[in-house]
Amino acid sequence: MRPRDVIYFDFAATTPLDERVLQIMQPYWNEAFGNPSSIHAYGQTAEATLDDARQLSAAFLNARPAEILFTSGGTESDNLALRGVALARRAQTGADTLLISPVEHPAVTQTARQLVDVFGFKLKFLPTDCYGQVEAQSVEAELCDGTALVSVIYANNEIGSINPIAEIGAICRQRNIPFHSDAVQAAAHLPMNVAADAVDLLSIGAHKLYGPKGVGALYVRAGTPLLNLQTGGGQENGRRAGTENIAYIAGMAEALRLTREEAPGRRQQMICLRDEIIQQVLSIIPGAVLTGHPSNRLPNHASFALDHVNGNLLLMLLDQAGFACSSGSACKVGNPKPSEVLAVLGLPASYAYGSLRITLGKTSTQEEVEKLLTTLPGLVARARKLKTGEA
Ligand SMILES: *Cc1c(COP(=O)(O)O)cnc(C)c1O
Repeated sequence: MRPRDVIYFDFAATTPLDERVLQIMQPYWNEAFGNPSSIHAYGQTAEATLDDARQLSAAFLNARPAEILFTSGGTESDNLALRGVALARRAQTGADTLLISPVEHPAVTQTARQLVDVFGFKLKFLPTDCYGQVEAQSVEAELCDGTALVSVIYANNEIGSINPIAEIGAICRQRNIPFHSDAVQAAAHLPMNVAADAVDLLSIGAHKLYGPKGVGALYVRAGTPLLNLQTGGGQENGRRAGTENIAYIAGMAEALRLTREEAPGRRQQMICLRDEIIQQVLSIIPGAVLTGHPSNRLPNHASFALDHVNGNLLLMLLDQAGFACSSGSACKVGNPKPSEVLAVLGLPASYAYGSLRITLGKTSTQEEVEKLLTTLPGLVARARKLKTGEA
C-alpha cells in the first residue's frame, strides 16, 4: 500500500502514525469501548482514559486539565476559537472587530470571513514584514476597544516563519483582549507554554505530530468567553457536546507525550538538514528565493519561490522522480490562484506560482536529502522548459 520508492518530504501536510501511538489506541476499539458518560465499570474505564489524556495534553501545553477541550482536529479548534469567542465577546461587550494576521491557515481566515459575511463582524488584517512575520508593535497599534479577538498563527505552515507569540500575548493580556494562536504546525517542533506565551486560546492537532487524523485540542484559558458551538450532552464541561472519541484522544495524548520527550533531541539534526536544503537550493538553482525567515523558522521547514516555474507541474515531476513535496498551500491543479500567504511577501509576479515546500520528519536522513538535491535542479529546468513549450 505504501507508495514505493517515493521519499516523503511533506511532513507539514501530515505525518505517519507512530507505532507506539497505534499500540496505545488498540484496546479502545473493542475491549475498552465504554462511553465515558456511563456510570458502570465500562464507563469508568473510558472516563479514566479521558482524564489521563487531558492531564497529558495539559502538561504538554503547561495548562490546567480543565482548560483542555478535545476536538476533531486543528480545523475545528480554530473554528471554535474564532466563532466561539467572537460571538461570546460581542454579546458581552459589543466588541465586533476581528484582528488577524494575513498569514493564517484557511481554518482561521475562512472562519473570520464567514463571521464578516454572515454575522456582521468587521475584519482587520495585521501588517507583516517581508518574512511574513507579525511585529508585536503593530498589534499594539491596531488594538482598540472594539477588538473582539486577536488571532496570530504560531508558525506558518506554508513559509515556516515563527511569530513573536509571547510578545503579542503580553500586549493583548494588558488590554484584556482574547488572543488565539494556531499552533498546529508549531507544536510538533517548539516547546509549548500557554502561560509564558500569555495566550487565551491555542489550537493543536494530532496528525502533524505522529498522532491520528481527526483529533485535536483547543486550550481555553479559564474565564475566556466562549460560546458553545456544538450543543447536546454535557461532554467537555458542556463546551463541546458529543461522545468522545476515546481511541483518538488517547492516541493524541501519547503522541503529545512522545513529542515533548523526543522533539528537542531531534531539533539540531533537523536544523542541519533544513539549512543544507536551503543553502543548496539557493546556490544551485537559478531564480530561487527563500520564503519566510532564514533562521527564525520551523526546524523542519524549507520553502522557496521559483521564478517562472509552475509549482504544480514541478510537484508532478518530483513525484514521478520519487519525491513527495508540496507547494505549501492547498492549491490544486486547475486552481491557479496563488496562495494568500505568498501574496503578502511582496514577490515579483513571475514567482507567484512557483512555490515549493520541503518539510522534514523524524525519519528523514542526510541520504534522502542528498538524493533530492541531486535531482531537483534538473527537474526545475525541465519544468521551466515544459512551461514555455521548449520540450
Ligand atoms: C494542518 C493545519 C490545520 C488544520 O488541522 P487539521 O487537523 O488537518 O484540521 C490548521 N492550522 C495549521 C497551521 C495547520 O498546519
